Amino acid sequence: MKKYDYLVVGAGLYGAVFAHEVSKRGKSCLVIDKRNHVGGNIYCENIEGINVHKYGAHIFHTNDEEIWNYVNEFAEFNRFTNSPIANFNGEIYNLPFNMNTFNKLWGVITPQEAKDRIEEQKAILKNKKPENLEEQAISLVGTDIYEKLIKGYTEKQWGRSATELPPFIIKRLPVRFTYDNNYFNDRYQGIPIGGYNVIIENLLRNCDIRLNTNYFENREELDSLAKKVLFTGMIDEYYGYKYGVLEYRSLRFDTELLQQQNYQGNAVVNYTDRETPFTRIIEHKHFEFKTSESTVITREYPMEWKSGDEPYYPVLDEKNLDIYNKYKALGEKEETLIFGGRLGEYKYYDMHNIVRAAIEKVKEEFKN
Ligand code: FAD
Ligand code: UDP
Repeated sequence: MKKYDYLVVGAGLYGAVFAHEVSKRGKSCLVIDKRNHVGGNIYCENIEGINVHKYGAHIFHTNDEEIWNYVNEFAEFNRFTNSPIANFNGEIYNLPFNMNTFNKLWGVITPQEAKDRIEEQKAILKNKKPENLEEQAISLVGTDIYEKLIKGYTEKQWGRSATELPPFIIKRLPVRFTYDNNYFNDRYQGIPIGGYNVIIENLLRNCDIRLNTNYFENREELDSLAKKVLFTGMIDEYYGYKYGVLEYRSLRFDTELLQQQNYQGNAVVNYTDRETPFTRIIEHKHFEFKTSESTVITREYPMEWKSGDEPYYPVLDEKNLDIYNKYKALGEKEETLIFGGRLGEYKYYDMHNIVRAAIEKVKEEFKN
């Protein structure tokens, strides 16, 4: 007799929602993670009373009322609205691209003036359908914004020319002809009070947990413990890289505690020039409106992923998607194994997508 119904590999948001939903349906779960904490990439570390987003800044946002109500069952959210600013060689611009950005850049005042500028600049595309990130960006906001606010940041972030990247990445960002600096269009947005750990700990309340446990180092023993496995690690690693290694972008986080109240006046400042080696500086206390005497900042340095590094962003170009589709086809044939999450499904999922996907996966499992 197997001890557990499910072994959940990875205590990130996907694993935690999945584990919670199956526990709710009376099933038992063992959740393991190779890290020394639960939460995956949304884990927060408390430094001098500030919740430091240890694996990159996380702002919860969604248009899906059901998902918003769902996460609010596990934590109360504050009213944080992300309105990052861009620093291009010392010039400050509002993000996302909106009338404040256009006014600062061109002196235009009305939406029509801004649209006319963009129309003029995108003429170089000669009405061609955008086929890469550069063309998509120019067609949305023109060449000036592309050069100052997109090209350098994107090429640092992805380590590739913007002409080699898919158009959809830049479509994540709103373009607005109103004076509105909200980075997201979604109806709901906020940061959980007490940090993301509160959500994860509440989700995992009824599960057994083993930390510092790498599935691949204990595979046989772990498989023997449960009837089914949910795997939220890298799908290519699961299959021994037999169809090739999927590419990721990784990040190095350089975190500093400073004895000053307010370092940069905003939670997120993007450095959009090519020369500054980091892409953004996060000042964590502003996510929580804290006014304490000290502050914690994190510089984010993008880097190419190599075995052993944290795989943060899947590189969704054709070559990688072809490889992923082969692994996916293998995964679909498995009867006692499910893949899920950013790494298991090789998708650029935000948190609300993860919660939705995990809930749907459980519904599929239980046919309800
Ligand atoms: P993960 O959080 O990566 O969890 C996977 C877990 O599996 C990890 O804990 C890992 O240690 C464990 N694991 C892997 N392999 C093994 C193994 N072999 N054995 C045991 N354990 C294993 N989303 C938003 O909605 N808003 C944001 O502002 C936002 N900002 C982001 C910023 C950055 C820098 C990044 C990288 C992502 C951001 N996201 C954001 C996306 C968000 O992080 C993801 O949607 C979410 O955390 C993915 O959850 P997951 O459970 O799929 O993966
Ligand atoms: N981007 C940019 N300039 C910015 C911010 C973002 O060019 O100041 C581009 C960049 O290519 C990035 C993409 O927009 O990868 C998506 O940005 P988002 O903030 O959604 O990235 P994430 O938070 O997922 O790192």
